[in-house]
Amino acid sequence: MRLASALFIIAAVVGRTPAPPPAVVVLAPSVRDSIDSIFLRYNVHWNELADVNTLTQMLGTGRPTQKEYLGCLVGHTSAAGDTIYITDWARARGLVQFQFAVTGTCDHVAGLIGTWHTHPYRASATGTALKEPVLSSTDLSTFAAGHDRVVLAAWDRDSIDAAARSSDGSVTHPADLIVR
Ligand SMILES: [Zn+2]
Repeated sequence: MRLASALFIIAAVVGRTPAPPPAVVVLAPSVRDSIDSIFLRYNVHWNELADVNTLTQMLGTGRPTQKEYLGCLVGHTSAAGDTIYITDWARARGLVQFQFAVTGTCDHVAGLIGTWHTHPYRASATGTALKEPVLSSTDLSTFAAGHDRVVLAAWDRDSIDAAARSSDGSVTHPADLIVR
């Protein structure tokens, strides 16, 4: 309580209202299931990569199942602007998939609120799984420079990393993600 009072006083002194709470992302189960299915489809042979050298992987000439996938997110925000509801998704246009990157556009999508993409499993030299568990620094800088409200990266079933943009433009990462 003492801390809250102090924050209020500081906000009053500088003439600004306190910042809104960090954005929360609510993901429809049907969208989560689609993301799971596509992640599995594009990573199904991840453990067969031990014989593929790093250069081949970086050039994106690896096996077709070892590629990232990009999708568009459809939804809306709460009246206050700090809850982001993802209700549907759509295919990106001009999808170009590499092992460790993916490009495409979502400009054609009505109700666009952000994007999602898969991250690959890849094999270490000893054949064990190397996972890409969170949004990369490039993912986050790209998101920060844009206008989307949310970006998701999926790297395993039920493991989705989210960054969200609040109504005041501030970016939260990792953002709270609720499947509902
Ligand atoms: Zn990424």
